[in-house]
Amino acid sequence: NHLISRLRRASLGREDAVFAMRPGGLPDITFDALFGGAERMAAALVTLGVVPGDRVAVQVEKTLEAIELYLGTVMAGAVFLPLNTAYTSNEIAYFLRDATPRVVVCDPAREAEIVRDADGARVMTLDAEGYGSMIEAAKGQAAGFVPVARRGEDLAAILYTSGTTGRSKGAMLSHDNLSSNSEVLRDYWQFTDEDVLIHALPIFHTHGLFVATNVALLSGASVIFLPRFDVDDILDAMRRATVMMGVPTFYTRLLDDPRIDRDRVANMRLFVSGSAPLLVETHERWEQRTGHRILERYGMTETNMSTSNPYEGERRAGTVGFPLPGVELRVMDKGCEVAPGEIGVLEVRGPNVFKGYWQMPQKTAEELRPDGWFITGDLGYVDTDGYVTIVGRAKDLIISGGFNVYPKEIEGVIDDLSGVLESAVVGVPHPDLGEAVIAVVVHQGKGTSQEAILDAMSDKIARFKQPKYVALVEELPRNTMGKVQKKALRETYVNLFS
Ligand code: ATP
Ligand code: MG
Repeated sequence: NHLISRLRRASLGREDAVFAMRPGGLPDITFDALFGGAERMAAALVTLGVVPGDRVAVQVEKTLEAIELYLGTVMAGAVFLPLNTAYTSNEIAYFLRDATPRVVVCDPAREAEIVRDADGARVMTLDAEGYGSMIEAAKGQAAGFVPVARRGEDLAAILYTSGTTGRSKGAMLSHDNLSSNSEVLRDYWQFTDEDVLIHALPIFHTHGLFVATNVALLSGASVIFLPRFDVDDILDAMRRATVMMGVPTFYTRLLDDPRIDRDRVANMRLFVSGSAPLLVETHERWEQRTGHRILERYGMTETNMSTSNPYEGERRAGTVGFPLPGVELRVMDKGCEVAPGEIGVLEVRGPNVFKGYWQMPQKTAEELRPDGWFITGDLGYVDTDGYVTIVGRAKDLIISGGFNVYPKEIEGVIDDLSGVLESAVVGVPHPDLGEAVIAVVVHQGKGTSQEAILDAMSDKIARFKQPKYVALVEELPRNTMGKVQKKALRETYVNLFS
């Protein structure tokens, strides 16, 4: 079994070593216990009728049992399909219809509605404390399940994208997509079995499930397994941990706490950020307070991780670093590669790139070229030193009066104004301009006004880029991965000029 044999290799011979530590007096879990639990899950799935290639859909809280279920599914030769815990029953019904899983594992509170929508799939439960019918079924099985043979190109998981730009798409990921990318990250970020990783990310998303969990397993490292982001738990964990992987909001929330200082992070060697853009300001404040330069990387559900700032060498704020070893990256505009410094759509190719969208051949054909290049839909440029900068998504590009406006440029100018915490710039329909630039701004106390922002912009950027309207708000709409929901903002202000 391509993926399982690799994930297990680093802990062979040291099965008694601790894989996971948990807060609140819960016992530690050894590698032996983790893989033994996974073997029992695999055996239980087989008795439930799962055969290689079947999907096992899972919408559960973050527990180590859920990690065992992930590993057990892959051991059984099946395809792990995690679903965001925030999805409502309507949304779940869509995913279950789309994915046609053999088994669905859900929270007991959801069981009745899932049974209704599951269309004949076996419905099992797993709750936030690690109990449920799936656990009962696994308990009755012996450990020692022999993983079903699977090759590198076989599917290990279908992960739905975050749905930031439209309806979520199921990205088909092979055993080799996952193992090759995690191996590269382990080496690039210099993980060893001495590391202790703070794991506070959700496990229905590529960041927490694959980047964090697989990299830790592949290096035989331990994790401090936190069910969610909690400032006190993280501050506590930092005393014993060596690495943290987080989304930008982890860092901004931690910076709000006076306890973050050099002493607190004395044991830490690395802070990683990704899934959404990290503000230069956050990067700088973090360095001032802790002495650490956050390492920002860039990835997608479809590609795993594609670029990373270097471990040694300059971690440049505002950039996502270099293409990872084995990953090719190019910047395209109107069918041609552009010169360094020029903006275009990023395309990536390599063993990290997915096999296509589940049951969406049309969409797959539009975004995955026959020669393996994947059109990410992100706009960016590569500077003369080779650092990649993301300037936003192609779908968020504003075309106002025929001119391209890149939201990130305007956001950068607004964020630098005094009294401004952060901002999001979007385009909304406008009768003359086609689209008008508007800015949604989070301000500090009574630090600023709409007029002050508009005034301050007047000599900083060209007129066609200046917002036609500024909305002052308390906070920006974000999902659990810290992604600003620009689609929601466009909907809110859609009728502003009509
Ligand atoms: P959907 O594809 O359904 O619209 P999504 O693209 O948000 O949702 P994900 O696969 O979770 O779903 O996110 C990938 C996207 O996240 C990337 O395409 C990019 O826009 C953004 N992203 C990830 N890391 C970074 C980063 N370091 N800086 C800027 N953007 C990032
Ligand atoms: Mg996407």
